[in-house]
Amino acid sequence: MRVFYSEDHRLHFPQAELSGGQFVTPFERPSRLEYILNRLRKRQFLDVVAPEAVDMAPITALLDPGYLTFLETAWDEWKAAGMGGEIIAANVPARGMHMDRIPENIDGKVGYYCHASETAITQGTWKAALSSVASAQAAQRHVAAGANAAFALCRPPGHHATADQYGGFCFINNAAVTAQMFRDSGAERVAVLDIDFHHGNGTQDIFYERADVLFASLHGAPQQTYPYFIGYADEKGRGEGEGYNFNYPMLSGTGYSQWSAALDDAIAKISAWGAEVLVVSLGVDAYKDDPISFFQLESDDFTDAGRRIGRMKLPTVFCMEGGYAVEMVGVNTVNVLEGFADA
Ligand SMILES: [Zn+2]
Repeated sequence: MRVFYSEDHRLHFPQAELSGGQFVTPFERPSRLEYILNRLRKRQFLDVVAPEAVDMAPITALLDPGYLTFLETAWDEWKAAGMGGEIIAANVPARGMHMDRIPENIDGKVGYYCHASETAITQGTWKAALSSVASAQAAQRHVAAGANAAFALCRPPGHHATADQYGGFCFINNAAVTAQMFRDSGAERVAVLDIDFHHGNGTQDIFYERADVLFASLHGAPQQTYPYFIGYADEKGRGEGEGYNFNYPMLSGTGYSQWSAALDDAIAKISAWGAEVLVVSLGVDAYKDDPISFFQLESDDFTDAGRRIGRMKLPTVFCMEGGYAVEMVGVNTVNVLEGFADA
């Protein structure tokens, strides 16, 4: 399986994340990918290549152009306004306020385009986000050209980013761009399976009213964890998209027997629908020792999950999402890939 990876992810490394009322070193940090790369090498995944330059056309077509311009220019505007630190949203539109009027002031704009304040923007964030989606695009082209699978080792991750909001460590939704590119290259039915511990709210939102991209997400129940305000089982899609969105929220302490039953159900729905290609939002924060999650998966469970996904026999692009037990992120990620290959 070819792996696409760009060193430019290192350009995004905020000094601080707002967590528990304190500024801490962000859980989403560059070393995550070092552990994954080391493990890939150790397990003989040696075909690791840098992606070609990002192709902006499919990104601007899918996402809000104003949002993309904001991401590109936010740092310069922030500095020009005399702000001393990294970009952190302090004021967001809440109940009773205007949701559709974009402020002129950069502090206000940040609030408009952000949904969660833990995520900081730095000088290198835009370039890193572009390098991340470039890996996803290269993986998509590789599979569209005939490979049975590819792994986009994306960082920053993407599945929490909507068409016009960042948060949850995500800026550009790599999996959504990948799915759209499969549609553009001729696939009529594209499935996105999100196994990250957190709900893939951004991906759900982008495809919520569409019947050509099916979305299924296994995640911590929103009444108990981020992103808190979305991810319930009764969110099934809207309009033409009704019946093409499947959420599997699970409570604190969920282990592999329940989690894998949800996975099997999602797989059955994707197969019954007749998906032609699959995009997997591959987070490994369902692991038992993950510092910001509450499922109980063991490392071997990730191998088994990969095997179940592989049995679908669909052309598949894996996009890296979360996973924060850094010393085990490599093992658990590669376990999924090995299980998939094994099937
Ligand atoms: Zn996650």
